[in-house]
Amino acid sequence: MGSRYRSFNNYLRGIFGERVQRIGLDAGFSCPNIDGTKSERGCSYCNNKAFVVNCRQPKNLDEQITRSMEFYRRRLGAKKFIAYFQAFSNTWAPVDVLKKTYDTIKKYPQIAGLFVSTRPDCLDDEKLKLISGYLKDYLVWLELGLQTSDEALLKSINRNHSYSDFEKAVRSARAYNINVCAHLIAGLPGSRPQATLVDVDRIVKLGVAGVKFHVFHLLKNTPLEAEYTRCRFKFLDRRSYVKIICDCLERLPPEVVIMRLVSTASSEYLIGPEWINQKHGVIKDIDDELKRRNTYQGCSYEGTSIKNP
Ligand code: SF4
Repeated sequence: MGSRYRSFNNYLRGIFGERVQRIGLDAGFSCPNIDGTKSERGCSYCNNKAFVVNCRQPKNLDEQITRSMEFYRRRLGAKKFIAYFQAFSNTWAPVDVLKKTYDTIKKYPQIAGLFVSTRPDCLDDEKLKLISGYLKDYLVWLELGLQTSDEALLKSINRNHSYSDFEKAVRSARAYNINVCAHLIAGLPGSRPQATLVDVDRIVKLGVAGVKFHVFHLLKNTPLEAEYTRCRFKFLDRRSYVKIICDCLERLPPEVVIMRLVSTASSEYLIGPEWINQKHGVIKDIDDELKRRNTYQGCSYEGTSIKNP
């Protein structure tokens, strides 16, 4: 059999019939959890410098877009692209500013998709209406950072939003026919291994159309670094992570798009676990584990799939 899960690349090929490259962009937005609206500390694991290419003092958007497209055209022969507004919270600005920012992609006929990453508490009807306006010309996804559906864990990592904020955001986005991808983190300090399985079951019921899995990793210059120095909490080991992800895949509906199986981080900032940067090896372990179990995405899913846009 082919892939045992619905990978993002296969999903894109199914729509466009060719490779489509996502390009990460930093439009210079901030985040209410950093700018003082909710907190100035940020999420306890957050050091955006570690995972955003052009962060901070970003180059202007046109320059980011043209450089990235040229890079992937040369390196991978990519001809179509998705503009992924990635850094910080990309709906954290007035609607007219958001519109002007997103509209930059209209200058580039090679861009076929608009992906917007944000927090669940940074959306309202006006913003969702704006984003839905791109549906007629682009593949549109909203990527929502949830990380965990456990309220106590959300608090412990200083997310400063609740699970009900996420529920509300997903329901509202779906009402505008916008695909939603949830970001989840496995292995958060203080969490049980089953926590991510509970998260998956809960987001499936909401009709989330895609998932990005991350493994908890500790970065330098984050609030959690000090806590780690004090109490040396344990990182999830590679084998346990592979097992958790396979368990999650088995209970996700087959049509949910797996947009990421493991996160990576700049080794300049990464404290641990170091294995996360062996991305291809981890993905192979997940493939091998599914083969060994002879299982696949959705094999344990018993619900009725919610039709996604
Ligand atoms: S919401 Fe995102 S950008 Fe804001 S502090 Fe948390 S991880 Fe960082």
